[in-house]
Formats: sequence, C-alpha cells, structure tokens
Amino acid sequence: MSAKPITYFPAPRLARYCSQCGTPVVRRVPEGDNRERDVCDNCGAIHYQNPRVVVGTVPVWEGRILLCRRAIEPRYDTWTLPAGFMELGETTAQGATRETLEESGARVKLGGIYTIIDVPQVDQVHIYHLAEALGPELDPGPESLEARYYDEAEIPWDNLSFRTVVTTLRHYLEDRRRGGFGPHYYSLDTPH
Ligand SMILES: [Zn+2]
Repeated sequence: MSAKPITYFPAPRLARYCSQCGTPVVRRVPEGDNRERDVCDNCGAIHYQNPRVVVGTVPVWEGRILLCRRAIEPRYDTWTLPAGFMELGETTAQGATRETLEESGARVKLGGIYTIIDVPQVDQVHIYHLAEALGPELDPGPESLEARYYDEAEIPWDNLSFRTVVTTLRHYLEDRRRGGFGPHYYSLDTPH
C-alpha cells in the first residue's frame, strides 16, 4: 500500500469508526438529544463534536505589529497574526502565548482579550489577545517562513491569511487612533 499524500488539514470532523472500539459508527439522533451524532451501537459511545478554538495575539513592539509568513497550508506564503489551535489542558492565554512563541520566537506580555470571532461555517471560534513584545528579537519556528514587525503603512493587506486576521488588524488600527482598545465580539458569516 503506498502512502497517500496529506489531503486533509485538519482532518474531517465526522468519524467513520468508533475511536473506543473500532466499530463503524452510525449517524443518528441519540435518545434524549435533538441533533444527529456519530453513535457506536457496539460500545454505546456517542462522539460529540464541538467547535474548535483558535487562539492568537496582536503582538506590538514600539508601535509596530508582528506578522508571520505562513510556511504551512492552508494559506501558505501569506501573512498572519500568530495564532493556532488551542491544545487540551491549556488556557486561552497560555495557548496564545505558546503560539506566538512557536510561530515567531517573540516573548510577549499578554494584555486583555481583544477580538472574539465566531466562524460558524468552519465550526471555529477565534480569540485574539492584545500583547506587548518584551523585546524586538524574533526567531520564527518551522510553521513560519519569516516573522517581522510592520508599521501600519506597510501592512500587506492584499496578502493576509484569514478574515479573522484582517478584521482584528482593522479593529486594532482603528482603536489605536481612537485611543481605546476593544474587546470586539462579532461573527464572520461567509467562508474566510
Ligand atoms: Zn464503540
């Protein structure tokens, strides 16, 4: 059997087999529930699926904003704020700090929650924290081709990774002009 290329990232959310016992799952409404789930009729496991949380930061050093050029799909070679999927067992603040360090090498002091963005069409919630870099040093990890601080006028608006990044940056720059920072809660209702 030849290795198949990786065509799914992240993997599809609907399971074919029970992760507890390996029996094919069936999709139906369990008793007492009101929506379809992946149910295992062999061991009784109900495999609930819930939205995933993406956590990130808006890291700033001397008024300039940190962006990373993605070395991975989706959106390879586009610029993003540092962010990624929250891991089990961590807080949103820990996840945001970890992703920032992993993707850019920047050590940051977190400020408050800045944007909370529902992205229901991909079953995600994105949460960005304000963040102050503790120094100008950057050391991008394997997920980034490059990391650098941008002046407002240099931000590559035509080559940003995701609408959550675009809208978070827009809010940030607007708020900075007004002198008061968020938080902003909103929903993106079309695919980004
Ligand atoms: Zn099972």
